[in-house]
Amino acid sequence: MGSQEVSTVDWQGKHVTVAGLGVSGIPAARALHERGALVTVVNDGDDERARAQAAELEALGITVRLGDGATLPPSTELIVTAPGWQPDKPLFLAAAEAGVPVWGDVELAWRLRGDNGKKAAPWLAVTGTNGKTTTVRMLASILEAAGLRTAAVGNIGVSLLDAVLGDTEYDVLAVELSSYQLHWAPSLRAHSAAVLNLAPDHLDWHGSMEAYAADKGRVYEGNTVACVYNVADPATEDLVREADVEEGCRAIGFTLGAPGPSQLGVVDGILVDRAFVANRQKQAQELAEVTDVNPPAPHNIANALAAAALARAFGVEPAAVRDGLRAFRPDAHRIEHVADIGEVAYVDDSKATNTHATEASLAAYDSIVWIAGGLAKGATFDELVTGAAKRLRGVVLMGADRALIHEALTRHAPEVPVVDLERTDTGAMSEAVARAAELARPGDTVLLAPACASMDMFTNYNKRGEAFADAVRARADESA
Ligand code: ADP
Repeated sequence: MGSQEVSTVDWQGKHVTVAGLGVSGIPAARALHERGALVTVVNDGDDERARAQAAELEALGITVRLGDGATLPPSTELIVTAPGWQPDKPLFLAAAEAGVPVWGDVELAWRLRGDNGKKAAPWLAVTGTNGKTTTVRMLASILEAAGLRTAAVGNIGVSLLDAVLGDTEYDVLAVELSSYQLHWAPSLRAHSAAVLNLAPDHLDWHGSMEAYAADKGRVYEGNTVACVYNVADPATEDLVREADVEEGCRAIGFTLGAPGPSQLGVVDGILVDRAFVANRQKQAQELAEVTDVNPPAPHNIANALAAAALARAFGVEPAAVRDGLRAFRPDAHRIEHVADIGEVAYVDDSKATNTHATEASLAAYDSIVWIAGGLAKGATFDELVTGAAKRLRGVVLMGADRALIHEALTRHAPEVPVVDLERTDTGAMSEAVARAAELARPGDTVLLAPACASMDMFTNYNKRGEAFADAVRARADESA
């Protein structure tokens, strides 16, 4: 069967267990019930919210079992799971023993696409450790500029099932996929896909780096037109090599250097395509200028090239790549320029919650006062600090695991002044900004790129970024 064809399942009377009430479980249960499946939802929690949600589903005739997500209901023929559920849970072990297949939310959306009589739009998929959301939004912006009906969906916070089963008909979808979602999506076959980069993350869930990489690599399985990889990250190219793709599907690299044949890259400040041109040995096509990328930090140019490669694989013209990149606005807290005070720039990259992301944002500036710290999630900081040492004017540390970063600074950058903030109250971020301002010299950037999760001091990275931006704006107002 051609990979883009729609497969149909006869749901009538099929016993399906939905694992997990929640953003993906509830729509999944409803969609399956509407198609005639006999649905049982199982959920570990049994709190008030779960009971209210259960009551709504039960009113429709769906069975819900609260407080026990471990036992496999007898007669289950298929499990549809929330993507975050750990693969070694007893429910899945029991399913494996009984030969019951397990699908995630993405697999279900893939299987249900087209079954409401609408055109089944092809998927352009993006995964990677960092840069997924940015790249998917850039891609959607480019596809829109090309006049295509599209949406950025998936792990980005927009349910794939809703996109696939909703009323809007799409020409193509820009799909962000997490490693969890890919783990549970055995038959997904994207038109084209990109793995942006691979650094250790979520290893507790996957069990090992190999298992994590293998799940990311699934995004290439069955691609029809292009597998897009990062030339600077050979592990992504290895995944392409290992993938079983449709005949004629090409490996397309992206690089911040001059592109070889079948690559997109950068020459003299211009994003160029040497892959989707008539003669790739001799020809290169100008797509956009580096300054069309917002912000034009190196890692973000890489994201733009990956988005451009997927769009070009789908047949988008060069002018639409440029227009789409120009129209793109980054999401909040991702290298967001907050203000200039004096001759110092203040940048919020609160979304840099791991060392790989922080490495990228530290690489984007020449002289930095770095604000970092929070929950390290088992990370080490030696490599990060070594790479950035010569660009650090000073460092302000806060949060639970700040000592780990401080120790790495002492080892690898002993000359860099460090302010160690003990306080964790609501005024802590203001003080961090004030101390950073003292360290900064004209031309410097004060960069919040914590390399850590935020939950020790803030509800989430958004709140952390807002606290930073509020403190910066208050200073800007004072100095105005
Ligand atoms: P994701 O959806 O994968 O979490 P985002 O686009 O939301 O990625 O970006 C998260 C953070 O990762 C950003 O704040 C930035 O610091 C960093 N980042 C973005 N793109 C890249 C990249 N290509 N390589 C490394 N880090 C990146």
